[in-house]
Amino acid sequence: MTKKGKHTICIHEGEIKDTQFGGAVSPIFMASSYEYLDADPMRYPRYFNTPNQEVLGKKIAALENAEAGLPFASGMAAISTTLLAFLSKGDHIVLTNEIYGGAFNFVVEEFDKMGIEYSFTNGVGVDDFEEKIKANTKVIYIETPSNPLLTITDVKAVANLAKKHGLVSMIDNTFASPINLTPLDFGIDISMHSATKYLGGHSDILAGLVAGSTEHINTIFQKGKNLGGNLSHMISYLLERSIKTLAIRVEKHNSNAQTIAEHLEKHSAIAKVYYPGLESHPNHNTAKAQMHGFGGMLSFELRKGLDAAEFQKKLKLVKPSLSLAGVESTILQPSLTSHALLTPEQRKAVGISDSLLRFSVGIENVDDIIGDVEQALKLI
Ligand SMILES: *Cc1c(COP(=O)(O)O)cnc(C)c1O
Repeated sequence: MTKKGKHTICIHEGEIKDTQFGGAVSPIFMASSYEYLDADPMRYPRYFNTPNQEVLGKKIAALENAEAGLPFASGMAAISTTLLAFLSKGDHIVLTNEIYGGAFNFVVEEFDKMGIEYSFTNGVGVDDFEEKIKANTKVIYIETPSNPLLTITDVKAVANLAKKHGLVSMIDNTFASPINLTPLDFGIDISMHSATKYLGGHSDILAGLVAGSTEHINTIFQKGKNLGGNLSHMISYLLERSIKTLAIRVEKHNSNAQTIAEHLEKHSAIAKVYYPGLESHPNHNTAKAQMHGFGGMLSFELRKGLDAAEFQKKLKLVKPSLSLAGVESTILQPSLTSHALLTPEQRKAVGISDSLLRFSVGIENVDDIIGDVEQALKLI
């Protein structure tokens, strides 16, 4: 049978048939204790194999064109477990310099204690990764589009580099979601998500998902049952429910973000827009070649003299908020949050100006979002 379309996978893949009552949705199986005599597999929530957990493994595998998948209690549980599954004392990992703050903290605060070596790249070109590879390197780790500058890494080039050196390649695919980027198609080994973001999509659950080959997923499973960052039945159900509308939500995120990016780029109050769907984006062609859509995240800088904090206070519809990727539009100023501990000079060195705003474009009517931005710009 030919592979089903993304929308159909989102709605139906892995669903549990309610054979008892004929209900239209997967029932929630609350048990944490299961019969074990003659049972194969023996079910237990920490073994990732309760019925509602299994739905998610199958769904993310199908969405990522992978053989298998696993659900976790958070994005960081997925990322930390996956890293530790492939790294032991004496090993080395090369990571992108444009990495999510939580993943950065995990590496720099924990790896020394475990005797795991790491290097961050100086850029996202394939040469930047290759120059950091050492004899004991085991893993290459990328993230694209990056946070908050939406930098694009060439996933195929990195996957090929990893293959050439016999390394496991991993991607944090949270920003693109599996609707906009399917990195295994380009040879990446393992794709990871904070399902708290687009997969959950409604700013109300914490979860993580991982997809890869059966062999890689089994390695992650072996580590995961020891670390115990498993997803509960209730949240598994809510995540299944959320993913049913993932493809249709992401399509709307994509089109709204494209419209807003083009609008802002022409605007006299805006100094710069970062969005991979704009032709002015330095990696637009790479993005076009590897992504099915350019995503709902964009960043922009206000013209000199305009106060970014004041601007956020004047917004009525768009909420200043720490998280991202919900159905509602949210905005965040990195210089006040993720990059607050750096000096203005240090921020400048990593390309984060004090007037930079990261915009998580929601799926409201695009005219309403633009209208809100316009009225706020007039007031500052
Ligand atoms: C939020 C996020 C994470 C961490 O996920 P949690 O669900 O908060 O643990 C990892 N990577 C990216 C890109 C994120 O945005």
